[in-house]
Amino acid sequence: MTKQIKNRVLITGAAGFLGSHLCDRFIMEGFEVIGMDNLITGDLKNIEHLFGKETFQFYHHDITRFVHVPGRIDYILHFASPASPIDYLKIPIQTLKVGSLGTHNLLGLAKEKNARILIASTSEVYGDPLVHPQTEEYYGNVNTIGPRGVYDEAKRFQESITMAYHRFHGLETRIARIFNTYGPRMRLNDGRVIPAFLGQALRGEDITVFGDGTQTRSFCYVDDQVEGLFRLLMSDYSYPVNIGNPDEISILDFAEEIVKLTGAGQKIVYQPLPKDDPMQRQPDISLARKILNWEPKVSREIGMKKTYDYFKGLSKEELYRSEHKDFTAHNRL
Ligand code: UDP
Repeated sequence: MTKQIKNRVLITGAAGFLGSHLCDRFIMEGFEVIGMDNLITGDLKNIEHLFGKETFQFYHHDITRFVHVPGRIDYILHFASPASPIDYLKIPIQTLKVGSLGTHNLLGLAKEKNARILIASTSEVYGDPLVHPQTEEYYGNVNTIGPRGVYDEAKRFQESITMAYHRFHGLETRIARIFNTYGPRMRLNDGRVIPAFLGQALRGEDITVFGDGTQTRSFCYVDDQVEGLFRLLMSDYSYPVNIGNPDEISILDFAEEIVKLTGAGQKIVYQPLPKDDPMQRQPDISLARKILNWEPKVSREIGMKKTYDYFKGLSKEELYRSEHKDFTAHNRL
Protein backbone atom coordinates (compact mmCIF):
# COMPACT_ATOMS: atom_id res chain seq x y z
CA MET A 1 0.00 0.00 0.00
CA THR A 2 1.39 3.43 -0.89
CA LYS A 3 1.65 5.86 1.98
CA GLN A 4 -0.38 9.00 1.42
CA ILE A 5 1.80 12.10 1.31
CA LYS A 6 0.56 14.87 3.57
CA ASN A 7 0.99 17.86 1.37
CA ARG A 8 -2.23 19.80 0.89
CA VAL A 9 -2.32 23.00 2.92
CA LEU A 10 -4.91 25.76 3.34
CA ILE A 11 -3.53 29.20 4.20
CA THR A 12 -5.96 31.91 5.27
CA GLY A 13 -4.89 35.53 4.89
CA ALA A 14 -2.93 34.30 1.88
CA ALA A 15 -2.77 37.70 0.19
CA GLY A 16 -1.46 39.39 3.31
CA PHE A 17 2.08 39.99 4.45
CA LEU A 18 2.79 36.79 6.41
CA GLY A 19 0.25 34.67 4.54
CA SER A 20 1.86 35.37 1.17
CA HIS A 21 5.33 34.50 2.44
CA LEU A 22 3.90 31.28 3.88
CA CYS A 23 2.36 30.45 0.48
CA ASP A 24 5.80 30.89 -1.10
CA ARG A 25 7.45 28.68 1.47
CA PHE A 26 4.94 25.84 1.20
CA ILE A 27 5.00 25.95 -2.62
CA MET A 28 8.80 25.79 -2.44
CA GLU A 29 8.56 22.78 -0.12
CA GLY A 30 6.46 20.98 -2.74
CA PHE A 31 3.07 21.38 -1.06
CA GLU A 32 -0.19 21.98 -2.85
CA VAL A 33 -1.36 25.33 -1.50
CA ILE A 34 -4.90 26.67 -1.28
CA GLY A 35 -4.79 30.36 -0.46
CA MET A 36 -7.88 32.07 0.96
CA ASP A 37 -8.44 35.78 1.55
CA ASN A 38 -11.32 38.27 1.51
CA LEU A 39 -8.86 40.96 0.30
CA ILE A 40 -9.94 43.61 2.80
CA THR A 41 -6.41 44.30 4.01
CA GLY A 42 -4.60 41.81 1.75
CA ASP A 43 -3.56 42.46 -1.84
CA LEU A 44 -3.52 39.99 -4.73
CA LYS A 45 -0.26 41.55 -5.85
CA ASN A 46 1.45 39.67 -3.02
CA ILE A 47 0.56 36.32 -4.59
CA GLU A 48 0.14 37.12 -8.27
CA HIS A 49 3.44 35.36 -9.03
CA LEU A 50 1.81 32.13 -7.81
CA PHE A 51 -1.18 32.27 -10.14
CA GLY A 52 -0.68 29.83 -12.99
CA LYS A 53 1.25 27.40 -10.82
CA GLU A 54 -0.39 23.99 -10.82
CA THR A 55 0.15 23.65 -7.09
CA PHE A 56 -1.59 26.92 -6.18
CA GLN A 57 -5.28 27.77 -5.98
CA PHE A 58 -6.93 30.89 -4.63
CA TYR A 59 -10.34 31.27 -3.01
CA HIS A 60 -11.73 34.78 -2.55
CA HIS A 61 -13.69 34.12 0.62
CA ASP A 62 -14.51 35.69 3.96
CA ILE A 63 -13.82 33.02 6.58
CA THR A 64 -16.32 34.49 9.04
CA ARG A 65 -18.85 32.72 6.81
CA PHE A 66 -18.97 28.95 6.45
CA VAL A 67 -15.77 27.70 4.82
CA HIS A 68 -16.02 24.95 2.25
CA VAL A 69 -12.99 23.47 0.51
CA PRO A 70 -13.49 20.34 -1.57
CA GLY A 71 -11.08 17.44 -1.17
CA ARG A 72 -8.46 16.57 1.35
CA ILE A 73 -6.68 19.09 3.59
CA ASP A 74 -3.69 18.03 5.64
CA TYR A 75 -2.69 21.33 7.22
CA ILE A 76 -4.34 24.67 7.88
CA LEU A 77 -2.45 27.86 8.68
CA HIS A 78 -4.83 30.52 9.95
CA PHE A 79 -3.33 33.93 9.19
CA ALA A 80 -6.40 35.96 8.28
CA SER A 81 -6.68 39.07 10.46
CA PRO A 82 -5.90 42.73 10.40
CA ALA A 83 -2.67 42.99 12.39
CA SER A 84 -1.83 46.61 12.97
CA PRO A 85 -3.31 49.10 15.43
CA ILE A 86 -4.37 51.43 12.60
CA ASP A 87 -6.14 48.61 10.75
CA TYR A 88 -8.08 47.32 13.68
CA LEU A 89 -9.14 50.79 14.64
CA LYS A 90 -10.61 51.13 11.14
CA ILE A 91 -12.31 47.73 11.11
CA PRO A 92 -12.82 46.75 14.74
CA ILE A 93 -15.84 44.51 14.20
CA GLN A 94 -14.18 42.49 11.41
CA THR A 95 -11.12 42.12 13.60
CA LEU A 96 -13.24 40.60 16.35
CA LYS A 97 -15.19 38.46 13.91
CA VAL A 98 -12.23 36.98 12.05
CA GLY A 99 -10.46 36.05 15.29
CA SER A 100 -13.58 34.49 16.81
CA LEU A 101 -16.13 33.36 14.18
CA GLY A 102 -13.42 32.87 11.54
CA THR A 103 -11.31 30.76 13.85
CA HIS A 104 -14.35 28.72 14.84
CA ASN A 105 -15.11 27.98 11.18
CA LEU A 106 -11.55 26.91 10.51
CA LEU A 107 -11.40 24.68 13.57
CA GLY A 108 -14.61 23.05 12.34
CA LEU A 109 -13.04 22.56 8.92
CA ALA A 110 -9.88 21.11 10.48
CA LYS A 111 -12.00 18.65 12.48
CA GLU A 112 -14.00 17.68 9.42
CA LYS A 113 -10.85 17.13 7.33
CA ASN A 114 -8.80 15.68 10.15
CA ALA A 115 -6.19 18.35 9.44
CA ARG A 116 -3.55 19.82 11.72
CA ILE A 117 -4.13 23.53 12.28
CA LEU A 118 -1.69 26.27 13.23
CA ILE A 119 -3.21 29.47 14.57
CA ALA A 120 -1.45 32.84 14.28
CA SER A 121 -1.65 34.32 17.73
CA THR A 122 0.30 37.36 18.82
CA SER A 123 2.44 39.03 21.45
CA GLU A 124 -0.62 41.27 21.93
CA VAL A 125 -2.10 38.54 24.15
CA TYR A 126 0.45 39.83 26.70
CA GLY A 127 -1.01 43.36 26.37
CA ASP A 128 1.18 46.04 27.96
CA PRO A 129 3.30 43.44 29.74
CA LEU A 130 4.32 43.71 33.37
CA VAL A 131 6.84 40.89 32.94
CA HIS A 132 9.91 41.29 30.78
CA PRO A 133 10.89 39.55 28.56
CA GLN A 134 7.62 37.70 27.96
CA THR A 135 7.59 33.94 28.45
CA GLU A 136 4.68 31.77 27.38
CA GLU A 137 3.68 31.37 31.03
CA TYR A 138 2.85 35.06 31.41
CA TYR A 139 -0.93 35.66 31.37
CA GLY A 140 -0.77 39.24 30.11
CA ASN A 141 -2.05 42.69 30.98
CA VAL A 142 -4.77 43.54 28.48
CA ASN A 143 -7.29 46.39 28.53
CA THR A 144 -10.39 44.61 27.23
CA ILE A 145 -12.17 47.82 26.19
CA GLY A 146 -9.22 49.86 24.90
CA PRO A 147 -8.55 50.45 21.20
CA ARG A 148 -6.38 47.35 20.98
CA GLY A 149 -8.91 45.24 22.87
CA VAL A 150 -10.69 44.17 19.68
CA TYR A 151 -7.52 42.49 18.47
CA ASP A 152 -6.09 41.35 21.79
CA GLU A 153 -9.31 39.78 23.03
CA ALA A 154 -10.09 38.17 19.67
CA LYS A 155 -6.66 36.57 19.74
CA ARG A 156 -7.04 35.48 23.35
CA PHE A 157 -10.41 33.92 22.51
CA GLN A 158 -8.75 32.31 19.50
CA GLU A 159 -6.21 30.61 21.73
CA SER A 160 -8.96 29.43 24.11
CA ILE A 161 -11.17 27.93 21.43
CA THR A 162 -8.16 26.32 19.78
CA MET A 163 -7.14 24.64 23.04
CA ALA A 164 -10.78 23.60 23.58
CA TYR A 165 -10.85 21.87 20.18
CA HIS A 166 -7.55 20.24 21.03
CA ARG A 167 -8.71 18.99 24.42
CA PHE A 168 -12.33 18.22 23.65
CA HIS A 169 -12.07 16.94 20.07
CA GLY A 170 -8.46 15.76 20.09
CA LEU A 171 -7.69 18.08 17.17
CA GLU A 172 -4.02 18.55 16.31
CA THR A 173 -3.42 22.23 17.00
CA ARG A 174 -0.43 24.58 17.12
CA ILE A 175 -0.39 28.14 18.50
CA ALA A 176 2.28 30.63 17.42
CA ARG A 177 2.57 33.84 19.44
CA ILE A 178 4.04 36.08 16.80
CA PHE A 179 6.06 39.13 17.83
CA ASN A 180 6.64 42.18 15.60
CA THR A 181 7.70 40.90 12.19
CA TYR A 182 8.74 42.87 9.11
CA GLY A 183 9.88 42.48 5.55
CA PRO A 184 8.82 42.96 1.94
CA ARG A 185 5.06 43.15 1.21
CA MET A 186 4.05 45.03 4.33
CA ARG A 187 1.57 47.75 3.48
CA LEU A 188 3.05 51.23 3.66
CA ASN A 189 -0.09 52.73 5.19
CA ASP A 190 -0.85 50.06 7.75
CA GLY A 191 0.45 52.27 10.57
CA ARG A 192 3.08 49.84 11.83
CA VAL A 193 6.32 51.47 12.72
CA ILE A 194 8.57 49.93 10.06
CA PRO A 195 6.46 50.71 6.99
CA ALA A 196 5.61 54.09 8.56
CA PHE A 197 9.27 55.05 8.93
CA LEU A 198 10.28 53.64 5.52
CA GLY A 199 7.37 55.39 3.80
CA GLN A 200 8.36 58.66 5.44
CA ALA A 201 11.95 58.18 4.28
CA LEU A 202 10.83 57.44 0.72
CA ARG A 203 8.65 60.55 0.62
CA GLY A 204 11.34 62.70 2.26
CA GLU A 205 9.13 63.39 5.29
CA ASP A 206 10.11 63.70 8.94
CA ILE A 207 10.24 60.50 10.98
CA THR A 208 7.39 60.41 13.51
CA VAL A 209 8.32 58.94 16.87
CA PHE A 210 5.32 58.41 19.15
CA GLY A 211 5.81 59.40 22.80
CA ASP A 212 9.41 59.96 23.83
CA GLY A 213 10.55 56.88 21.92
CA THR A 214 11.73 55.00 25.01
CA GLN A 215 9.17 52.22 24.37
CA THR A 216 10.88 49.13 23.00
CA ARG A 217 10.12 46.53 20.36
CA SER A 218 12.00 43.52 19.01
CA PHE A 219 11.77 43.05 15.24
CA CYS A 220 11.91 39.70 13.45
CA TYR A 221 12.70 39.41 9.74
CA VAL A 222 9.98 37.57 7.82
CA ASP A 223 12.20 34.68 6.61
CA ASP A 224 13.12 33.86 10.21
CA GLN A 225 9.46 34.07 11.22
CA VAL A 226 8.37 31.72 8.44
CA GLU A 227 11.07 29.20 9.37
CA GLY A 228 9.90 29.25 12.99
CA LEU A 229 6.27 28.79 11.94
CA PHE A 230 7.14 25.94 9.59
CA ARG A 231 9.02 24.14 12.34
CA LEU A 232 6.21 24.69 14.83
CA LEU A 233 3.63 23.25 12.44
CA MET A 234 5.78 20.17 11.93
CA SER A 235 6.49 19.77 15.66
CA ASP A 236 4.29 17.85 18.08
CA TYR A 237 3.86 20.71 20.56
CA SER A 238 0.29 21.91 21.16
CA TYR A 239 0.79 24.80 23.59
CA PRO A 240 1.61 28.41 22.62
CA VAL A 241 5.15 29.14 21.44
CA ASN A 242 6.68 32.62 21.10
CA ILE A 243 8.16 33.24 17.65
CA GLY A 244 10.09 36.47 17.33
CA ASN A 245 13.49 38.07 17.54
CA PRO A 246 14.71 38.92 21.07
CA ASP A 247 16.98 41.71 19.80
CA GLU A 248 15.25 44.64 21.57
CA ILE A 249 15.60 48.31 20.62
CA SER A 250 13.92 51.55 21.69
CA ILE A 251 11.79 53.22 19.02
CA LEU A 252 13.98 56.34 19.16
CA ASP A 253 17.18 54.35 18.53
CA PHE A 254 15.36 52.55 15.77
CA ALA A 255 14.33 55.86 14.18
CA GLU A 256 18.01 56.85 14.19
CA GLU A 257 18.91 53.59 12.48
CA ILE A 258 16.34 54.37 9.79
CA VAL A 259 17.79 57.82 9.20
CA LYS A 260 21.22 56.18 8.76
CA LEU A 261 19.91 53.39 6.51
CA THR A 262 17.94 55.62 4.18
CA GLY A 263 20.52 58.41 4.17
CA ALA A 264 17.81 60.96 3.55
CA GLY A 265 18.84 63.16 6.50
CA GLN A 266 15.29 63.43 7.84
CA LYS A 267 14.42 65.07 11.12
CA ILE A 268 12.89 63.05 13.94
CA VAL A 269 9.67 64.63 15.22
CA TYR A 270 7.60 63.60 18.22
CA GLN A 271 3.86 62.83 18.30
CA PRO A 272 1.61 61.71 21.17
CA LEU A 273 1.84 58.08 22.22
CA PRO A 274 -1.31 56.17 21.21
CA LYS A 275 -3.48 54.76 24.01
CA ASP A 276 -2.37 51.43 25.49
CA ASP A 277 0.82 51.39 23.41
CA PRO A 278 2.94 48.74 25.19
CA MET A 279 6.10 50.16 26.81
CA GLN A 280 8.24 47.11 26.32
CA ARG A 281 8.11 44.05 24.17
CA GLN A 282 10.67 41.31 23.87
CA PRO A 283 10.03 37.62 23.37
CA ASP A 284 11.66 35.03 25.55
CA ILE A 285 12.30 32.36 22.90
CA SER A 286 13.88 29.70 25.13
CA LEU A 287 10.97 27.37 24.42
CA ALA A 288 11.26 27.75 20.62
CA ARG A 289 15.03 27.23 20.86
CA LYS A 290 14.48 24.06 22.86
CA ILE A 291 11.60 22.37 21.07
CA LEU A 292 12.05 23.70 17.52
CA ASN A 293 15.82 24.15 17.56
CA TRP A 294 15.06 27.55 16.05
CA GLU A 295 16.28 31.07 16.50
CA PRO A 296 16.37 34.09 14.20
CA LYS A 297 19.39 34.42 11.95
CA VAL A 298 18.83 37.70 10.09
CA SER A 299 20.20 40.84 11.77
CA ARG A 300 18.17 44.04 11.79
CA GLU A 301 20.78 45.65 9.57
CA ILE A 302 20.42 43.04 6.82
CA GLY A 303 16.66 42.60 7.19
CA MET A 304 15.98 46.32 7.11
CA LYS A 305 18.17 46.79 4.06
CA LYS A 306 16.27 44.06 2.21
CA THR A 307 12.97 45.62 3.23
CA TYR A 308 14.00 49.12 2.19
CA ASP A 309 15.32 47.80 -1.13
CA TYR A 310 11.95 46.14 -1.73
CA PHE A 311 10.05 49.40 -1.22
CA LYS A 312 12.56 51.33 -3.32
CA GLY A 313 12.04 48.79 -6.11
CA LEU A 314 8.25 49.33 -6.29
CA SER A 315 6.87 51.24 -9.25
CA LYS A 316 5.11 54.57 -8.63
CA GLU A 317 1.76 52.87 -9.07
CA GLU A 318 2.61 50.07 -6.64
CA LEU A 319 3.85 52.56 -4.07
CA TYR A 320 0.63 54.55 -4.42
CA ARG A 321 -1.42 51.41 -3.87
CA SER A 322 0.59 50.41 -0.83
CA GLU A 323 0.24 53.89 0.63
CA HIS A 324 -3.45 54.39 -0.10
CA LYS A 325 -5.21 51.08 0.38
CA ASP A 326 -8.61 52.07 1.67
CA PHE A 327 -10.97 49.57 3.23
CA THR A 328 -13.20 51.84 5.26
CA ALA A 329 -16.23 50.82 3.14
CA HIS A 330 -16.02 47.45 4.87
CA ASN A 331 -16.86 49.12 8.13
CA ARG A 332 -20.53 48.69 7.39
CA LEU A 333 -20.26 44.91 7.18
N1 UDP B 1 5.44 54.15 16.30
C1 UDP B 1 6.11 55.36 16.15
N2 UDP B 1 5.92 56.07 15.00
C2 UDP B 1 5.12 55.66 13.97
C3 UDP B 1 4.45 54.42 14.12
C4 UDP B 1 4.63 53.69 15.29
O1 UDP B 1 6.85 55.78 17.06
O2 UDP B 1 5.01 56.38 12.96
C5 UDP B 1 5.65 53.37 17.54
C6 UDP B 1 4.35 52.88 18.22
O3 UDP B 1 3.83 53.88 19.07
C7 UDP B 1 4.86 51.68 18.98
C8 UDP B 1 6.00 51.14 18.12
O4 UDP B 1 6.34 52.19 17.22
O5 UDP B 1 5.39 52.05 20.23
C9 UDP B 1 5.62 49.90 17.30
O6 UDP B 1 4.38 50.15 16.71
P1 UDP B 1 3.66 49.15 15.71
O7 UDP B 1 2.37 49.78 15.34
O8 UDP B 1 4.60 48.77 14.62
O9 UDP B 1 3.37 47.80 16.48
P2 UDP B 1 2.88 47.41 17.95
O10 UDP B 1 4.05 46.65 18.45
O11 UDP B 1 2.66 48.66 18.79
O12 UDP B 1 1.67 46.63 17.75
